[in-house]
Amino acid sequence: MAAAQKMNQLYEGKAKRVFATADPGLCIVDYKDDATAFNGLKKGQIAGKGVINNRVTNHLMRLMERNGIPTHFVEELSERETLVKKVDIVPLEVIVRNIAAGSLSTRLGLPEGEKLRSTVLEFSYKNDELGDPMVNDYHIAAMNLATKEEVAIICDYAMRVNEILGGYLKTAGVELIDFKLEFGKTPDGTIILADEISPDTCRFWDSKTGEKLDKDRFRRDLGGVEDAYREILRRLLGE
Ligand code: ADP
Ligand code: UDP
Repeated sequence: MAAAQKMNQLYEGKAKRVFATADPGLCIVDYKDDATAFNGLKKGQIAGKGVINNRVTNHLMRLMERNGIPTHFVEELSERETLVKKVDIVPLEVIVRNIAAGSLSTRLGLPEGEKLRSTVLEFSYKNDELGDPMVNDYHIAAMNLATKEEVAIICDYAMRVNEILGGYLKTAGVELIDFKLEFGKTPDGTIILADEISPDTCRFWDSKTGEKLDKDRFRRDLGGVEDAYREILRRLLGE
């Protein structure tokens, strides 16, 4: 395929910019080094993050495709840019949890690191102004955020991504604590996995030491942020 050219910017988010291409069915995502946390209250930069998140996301999207999960991934164009299928994002953050951490620990009083007896799936309504509030199937139906059928497909894919990703990361000595996915709809209504899978959107702990290798190092001022992102790149891609 001839390398796609960036046209007008469609959107600038906290971590990525999205550009149109000559093909209305495709867009280019461009990963930034900007980092935010706590709904944008904490802002900073993580040097080299954009390059790492682009590489790691594409590597993991390819892994999903090989395992039968349809994704938006088309082609890595450069260190920071990837051509993807343009979708209508389902306005839900789909959160999958294996081990208690973060907002789940705070909300339910479960110590961080406690293994959950079964996988937990949560939805948040993707809305920055409201701070991405948690919603359930009833809210999703009442607000027409997705149909029942779409929610069933999203749940099935999210659980399968958890199995595939968790198993793969174990081989790299990384425990998959929790993560966030976004799904989108292609023009024919097909649900596919979109956005990113990276240390920005997952909690990765070293299997042996429990060391945090993800954005919690930035959120919680733990230091060694860049090193943690680089370590994930090294373990997954050998770079
Ligand atoms: P945010 O919007 O939360 O600040 P980002 O900075 O990551 O997040 O911005 C990327 C935006 O692009 C997100 O809103 C995401 O939902 C959207 N997006 C991701 N993949 C696609 C895609 N394939 N087609 C259209 N939009 C996408
Ligand atoms: N997450 C994300 N984007 C968000 C909220 C959460 O990528 O807007 C990810 C986060 O990195 C973690 C998981 O989803 O891997 C669960 O996050 P949690 O609800 O614990 O929120 P946090 O503690 O990050 O506020």
